[in-house]
This record gives sequence, C-alpha cells and structure tokens, in this order.
Amino acid sequence: MDSAEFRKHAHELVDWMADYLEKVSSYPVRPRVSPGEILGKIPSLPPQDGEPFDRIFGDFTSIVLPGMTHWQHPSFFGYFPANNSEPSILAEMLTATMGAQCMSWATSPAATELEERMMQWLSAMIGLPATFTGVIQDTASTATLCSILTAREVRSRYSVNTRGYPSYTRFAAYCSREAHSSVEKAIKIVGMGKESLRKIDVDAAFAMRPDALEKAIKDDIKSGLTPLLVVAALGTTGTTAIDPLKEIAEICKRYKLWLHVDAAFAGSAFLLPELRGMLEGIELADTFVFNPHKWLFTNFDCSAYFVKDKEALIRTFEIMPEYLKTNEEHPVNNYRDWGIQLGRRFRALKLWFVIRHYGVVGLRETIRQHIQLAQELAEQIRASEDFELAAPVPLNTICFRYKSRRGTDIAAQNRLNQELMDRLNMTGRLFLTHTKLNDRFTLRIVIGQTHVRKEHVDEAWKLIQAQAHILGG
Ligand code: PLP
Repeated sequence: MDSAEFRKHAHELVDWMADYLEKVSSYPVRPRVSPGEILGKIPSLPPQDGEPFDRIFGDFTSIVLPGMTHWQHPSFFGYFPANNSEPSILAEMLTATMGAQCMSWATSPAATELEERMMQWLSAMIGLPATFTGVIQDTASTATLCSILTAREVRSRYSVNTRGYPSYTRFAAYCSREAHSSVEKAIKIVGMGKESLRKIDVDAAFAMRPDALEKAIKDDIKSGLTPLLVVAALGTTGTTAIDPLKEIAEICKRYKLWLHVDAAFAGSAFLLPELRGMLEGIELADTFVFNPHKWLFTNFDCSAYFVKDKEALIRTFEIMPEYLKTNEEHPVNNYRDWGIQLGRRFRALKLWFVIRHYGVVGLRETIRQHIQLAQELAEQIRASEDFELAAPVPLNTICFRYKSRRGTDIAAQNRLNQELMDRLNMTGRLFLTHTKLNDRFTLRIVIGQTHVRKEHVDEAWKLIQAQAHILGG
C-alpha cells in the first residue's frame, strides 16, 4: 500500500470510527449470530493474490461487525467493562503506526521512561505508598502469576528457579472462595498443584473471613506444609466484595506470608479519596494489581502491577542471553525482566493520553458518577417488591434477583432468573451477565461503561421490570 492509498483509507477509517462511536448505542449490544456462522463466511484458505482494501473493509463491515459484541455500548452492563475512550483510541493509532517493540530501554527509550512515569502517576492517583514500583502487564492474570512466582522464589531463596521444587517442601496458598479464577490458574501454572490452594470461607458480604484464613494456615503448618502466600481481593468478580485487607495483612505478617492484592476492577475506585479506607493495610502487601483496561477508559490491554521489592521481581525473571545485552543495563528499566513476555507493546502512551485528557479531576468525576448511578439503581431494586438485592453494593456492581411468586423452590427461582437474563439479552437493548451466590443464580449489572448515563440505567431498569412482568413468576 503506498502512502497516498494509506492516507486515503486512514481518513475513511477515522470517519468510520467517529461514526461508530457516535452511533454505537444503535447496535444490538450482543450480536444475533449462531456458532460457526462467521466461520462459514471466511474462506477456508488464504487468498493467493492480494486484494483491494475496499473489498477487505467491505467484508469487515458485512461479516465481522454483525458478529461483534459492542463492549463500548453504553448499555453494556455485563462482566466487568473493558472500556476505552477517544483519547485512548487515538494513542493506539499512534502506537500501531510506530509499531515499536518495547522490551528494553534501548529498543524504545521513550516508551520505557513514559511507562516508568505513568506508573508513578497511577500510584499517586490511587494513593499507594511510595514504596511501590509499577510496571504494565498485559492482564491481571499475568500480574498474579508474576506475584506467585516471585513469592516462591523469595521464599525458596531463588532455589526453585535453579533446581525445581524440592521433594520435602509443599507450599500452600490462600484466597477466598470468591477470588477470581486467575488465582487457581496461576497456582496450576507454577506447578504447586491446585490442591495446594485453600479457598477460604467468606462472610455474609462475600468477603474473606480472617478467622477462617488463620485457621487454615495453622492447620497447614500442623500438617507439615509451608504456607506461602495469600491473595486478597479488593473487589471480587462476583459482587465486588472487599476482603478485610488490614486484618489479612496482619495475619500474613504474623506467619511471614507473601501478600498479593487483586484489585483488577475496583482499583480505579481508589482514585476517590473517600474510598481509600478499603486500602487500609496496603503498606503491608508485597504486590498489587489493577486494570486501567477495565474501568479507567484505557483500551485493552493495560494492567498496572505494583511491587514493593522490584529487585525480587527482576531476579525471578531476569535472563540474559548475549543477543539481548545492551550498553545500558543498569541505570535504566529493562521491562523484559519484569514479567513473563520478552516482547512488549507500547502501552504507556494510551494511559498518558487518557490521564491528560480527563485530568485526575475528570477521571474522579466519571468514576464517582458511575458509583452514584449504581447506588441509585440499587436503592430502586431494594425498594421494589418484585426484586431483591443479593449482595451489598460497595461500588458500581449490583447483584440482584427477581423474586418468584410461585414459592421458594431454589431450582425454580434459578430457572426464572436465568430466563429473565436470556430474554433481556435477546432484546439487544442491554447486556448483563450472572454469577452464582450460595448456589443461587444471580443477575449482575455493572455500571462502568465510559459513556453510560442516567438515561441508559433508567432504561435498563424499565426493561428489566417489563421483561420480568411478561415472564410472570
Ligand atoms: N481479578 C479479578 C478480581 C477480576 O475480576 C478479573 C477479571 O474480571 C481478573 C482478575 C482477570 O483479569 P484479566 O482479564 O486482566 O486477567
């Protein structure tokens, strides 16, 4: 593609992008496609000869677009959002254009130093102690894996990296039964075996019970195991329950356990000084992760991982074949040694654009507004005769159920709520997902989309009530 052609198509695409963002709410949030339908429209073999861009783009709009879930739709209330914003998209255009591979300082000095500064900004923005140093990872799952590997290496004096697990040490790890599945995945990857992960009981608010944690640690010590680490969740995936960090941190200190804090979604809320109480005890944690790609208007992927001991992180991952050596090894950060992957995308640019565009005040206002909208909806659900809240609402995730009038049979109530969710999602006018709380099917609505406004939440609540009414129950 020559420069003139590139310029022409790039202009067309920018127009398309602006139109898409303007009218994204007119698309059904979730596509109406069946499994295999898109696959059937893509030739099974690649083209032998190059094709004109117009034809490629035409297929994007006719084949791909109708099969997309529109995560940037303001009525996307499912999972946790992966929200973006206009300044973030603009930065990604530049990142893609430069196509830099930012594995070390020498391969992209500006990317490395901007990342260092952005992590300092983020740390200050959410009120982390100055003892933490940050690095961008692709996802919170990766950050948690890095944390567990570092814990293992520190505890074994870096001997597992050298000699593998000794036959006489069996490590144990702890998280609540509401913790994200990425904890169990990481435990499996590091070779500890998922049976060594203790899923600690939770209280009525779905937060980890410190007394149950301490008992599990004591039991393991008695059985000859070596308790290694705890993962505390600030904002569980199901309900955004906040584990009592201070009490957990004190237990970790008492028994010399590593402490990782997973605030993948809720970390953005700590921009609000009034919510920083949830972070109490953070100074005792070893590592902390939150995802700007969830609730800080920054395109996927961008996960902010903070560590107290950066030397331990580097020592866990550093590897130095001759072909990677550069003249500037020590005074600079070579982020290839701060995690799993060697090659790295330039992710700091979009953070820089987003933070400067909104300003800290603008970011705070948007997040505060989301929480406010959620609290108002929670109040309406609480006041409704037909619905009930299924968990406390500390932030902007509401767990609720439609109450059956046909009795108290749990299986029937579960079916009713599943049917309500399926019907709602079939309308294409909103999208929400579910969790199970104490074995009960529970609807979740997360109000965190970049452009969500009161009108979208009001419309969602009206639709939920209308569909429930049609369903009876
Ligand atoms: N931790 C929590 C609490 C989450 O809610 C999620 C995803 O929703 C994750 C970790 C995993 O995030 P990622 O997709 O960045 O790995």
